[in-house]
Amino acid sequence: MTNDRISIDLASSAARIGRDIETLGGADYTNSAEAISRYAYTKEFQNTTDYFIQELRAIGFEAWEDPVGNLVGRNRPKGEPAFGLGSHHDSNRNGGKWDGTLGVVTALETCRLSTELGLDLPLQLLSFIEEESSGFGQGVLGSRIITQQVTEDDLRESFRAVDDGRSFWEHAEEAGHDPARWRECIEDIAGLAGWIELHIEQGRVLQDGTLAFGIVTAIVGVNWVDLTFHGRADHAGGTPMGYRADAGLAAAEVAIELERLAIAQATPTVGTAGVGEFKPGLNNVIPGEARLGLDIRSVDASVYEAVIAEIVTFAEAAAAARDLTLDVTIQALTTATVMDAGVVGALEAAATESGHEFTVMPSGGGHDTQHVAPHVPSAMVFVPCRDGISHSPAELADPADAAVAVEVMLNAIAAYMDGAA
Ligand SMILES: [Zn+2]
Repeated sequence: MTNDRISIDLASSAARIGRDIETLGGADYTNSAEAISRYAYTKEFQNTTDYFIQELRAIGFEAWEDPVGNLVGRNRPKGEPAFGLGSHHDSNRNGGKWDGTLGVVTALETCRLSTELGLDLPLQLLSFIEEESSGFGQGVLGSRIITQQVTEDDLRESFRAVDDGRSFWEHAEEAGHDPARWRECIEDIAGLAGWIELHIEQGRVLQDGTLAFGIVTAIVGVNWVDLTFHGRADHAGGTPMGYRADAGLAAAEVAIELERLAIAQATPTVGTAGVGEFKPGLNNVIPGEARLGLDIRSVDASVYEAVIAEIVTFAEAAAAARDLTLDVTIQALTTATVMDAGVVGALEAAATESGHEFTVMPSGGGHDTQHVAPHVPSAMVFVPCRDGISHSPAELADPADAAVAVEVMLNAIAAYMDGAA
């Protein structure tokens, strides 16, 4: 048991992180000249996996791909306890250098430092395939396969390549993997004592608050509510205002009410009317049909469930007042996931000791960690990205911020494993 804080050479770590990111932003690692574009079972993706395998082996880690191509690196035998770190190194089709990849690069840097500083922490790097859904239209697919959230039929038949329509299974086999053993992927998280995913924030809270990093305490649950109002598509000139059944106006009222409801919640909640569709969609015809696509997110399931119930009640009343009928479809895409208090606490303690300004915050976007968290005590660390831009070649983060976060993670993991031992 030691209370000595681990301090690293921040400048040299930042340089190494920057070098990894720039290397993986090169022509061999993307299929686009304008952006980072790489996804499972392409040459560019394999080159990226191979880069990490080579770097891990250089520091004495064992590194391999699981039966579907998720990357695992370990400095302890398979199954023995280790602390897990990582993210994903696939990209959006018009992506940047940082989303996902920075989480794997900083995991690698943490492994390097543990080795070089003689800490020999039991560590496991894990990088998931297909977080971004670029290859097969299926998001967080690697972590869903690992945690058995898919069926064999999904992999053999339903999940098909965006590019050529052939199955996930066929592509995986062609790339030299063994999808028939997909159930064994659960071993990727066996023996993990804890898990941290570092990711760019994809928002501007850290930048605008001049904060070095954020510790994620929960990942929001995402819900979609589709509302279709049916009225009468009458003539816009011939129909006096009192004679109308205008579906568009009810939709407009709901969009405004959702904003009010989201703001009114004590727990951070966001509501967006991202789709608005009027039919027939002509200036001189009263909308006979209006479809509204809502996205509602909060870190507390009871909060978003209440908001959904209230907005549906409001929509029903708006429809009744205007003599409309209403169809409602509610889809729970992901459930809210609270991060582990032990791992979050270790990160907070290490963050406070670092002397840097930070915050605790929710994640408004989904991440692979949502699937890991039910199995392994988990947390996430966010680092600032310029203007919150992500999923774009303009995405930019600072390796110096990432190095600060690596030092915090190293201290948190050492303390956490010390406590667990
Ligand atoms: Zn990502």
